[in-house]
Amino acid sequence: MIRVRIAPSPTGIPHIGNTRTALFNFLFARHNRGQFILRIEDTDRVRYVPESEKAICEILEWLGLLWDEKYVQSGRLDIYREYADKLLKNEMAYKDEGAVRFKMPKEGKTSWADEVGKKTISFENKTQEDFVILKSDGFPTYNFANVVDDYLMKITHVIRGDEFISSTPKHIQLYKAFDWKPPVFAHLPVILGSDRQKLSKRHGAESVLYYREQGYLKEALLNFMVLLGWNPGEDREIMSIDEMVRLFDLKDVNTASPVFDIKKLEWFNGHYIRQLPIEELKSKINPSASLRARIKNLDTKILDELIILAQTRMTTLNDFSELTRWIFEESEVLLNEKEKQLAQKLIEAFLAIEQFSNETILQTLKTLIKTEGVKMSNFYKIITGKETGLPLPQALEILGREKTLGILKKRI
Ligand code: GLU
Repeated sequence: MIRVRIAPSPTGIPHIGNTRTALFNFLFARHNRGQFILRIEDTDRVRYVPESEKAICEILEWLGLLWDEKYVQSGRLDIYREYADKLLKNEMAYKDEGAVRFKMPKEGKTSWADEVGKKTISFENKTQEDFVILKSDGFPTYNFANVVDDYLMKITHVIRGDEFISSTPKHIQLYKAFDWKPPVFAHLPVILGSDRQKLSKRHGAESVLYYREQGYLKEALLNFMVLLGWNPGEDREIMSIDEMVRLFDLKDVNTASPVFDIKKLEWFNGHYIRQLPIEELKSKINPSASLRARIKNLDTKILDELIILAQTRMTTLNDFSELTRWIFEESEVLLNEKEKQLAQKLIEAFLAIEQFSNETILQTLKTLIKTEGVKMSNFYKIITGKETGLPLPQALEILGREKTLGILKKRI
């Protein structure tokens, strides 16, 4: 039975890097009909952030990366003490000013065959030092609790970021000391920013909760993350979580570092927004409170048509409010004299149209572009306050002549 885990330390809100690790573990477990375990590694009390554990669970639940078992290390302190005692008894560890240290071998090498890229990684033991396994406050260190738990929880594969490669010799020597078989190790290449430096907020990489707030769909985030260091070997990009589960294999994890590209995430999000059935999109657009109050007064048919139109232009769910603010809010659009005159001309031209439709509106705008020597962006500016936005003739047809004229009259 394949059993994998993610072992986040609750020191902050999970970002794209550790959430990608969670996704890869989840996919590996589900693909192999194995188990996916969540273990909160909260033994570092100094770096502990109380809201972190909740955020970890919230993100996993939102993304649908549901765990089969959950453990919290601070509730298991007796276990780590018991195992530290065993090492003390065998003289593989020693007491040092209240702390317990593990004796690392001083000669030879520590090696393992990493599953990513199938390469052997080796460290000279003389470069390693004895290390603390139990601190004087009775709490184990990360290295120790991590190994004891991976063994007790029967973890078969440790899939984690490659920043843990340097700790792996310590882990392997602990397995040896207990005479336990180490798991398979798979270290994922670190995600880089566009300047090939370590990923940070500078590159637009934020916490996963931030992306949710900004109107990203979980489908887009999952699809974006799965391609950070993995691809199914075909030219496929768009994948549902079920397809990912079907296709995921550790042998296809790349050894090269993937580069985080926010444009790509936006592209996926736009794609998934356009796939949403209207009712679902409607329930997700989550307009601001003031917008909600105004929308309530709008005819449902008009609202639905606006949503369908906006769907073609949205990158995030929050874009709906942005794209339609000019319709719902008394937004202040400041026009100069020339623009006011153009607004007046628009009113007259729109009044003269017999049937107020997409085609006739477009025709009217085109005529004015010629006779007045203006551009389409001038109409956008006058009507919406911005230079781009929803396809204008369609949007005005949906609103109807009366509402359109109402908006224009407010502009002059
Ligand atoms: N607690 C470590 C972390 O914060 C776990 C590393 C591992 O997966 O072994 O990521």
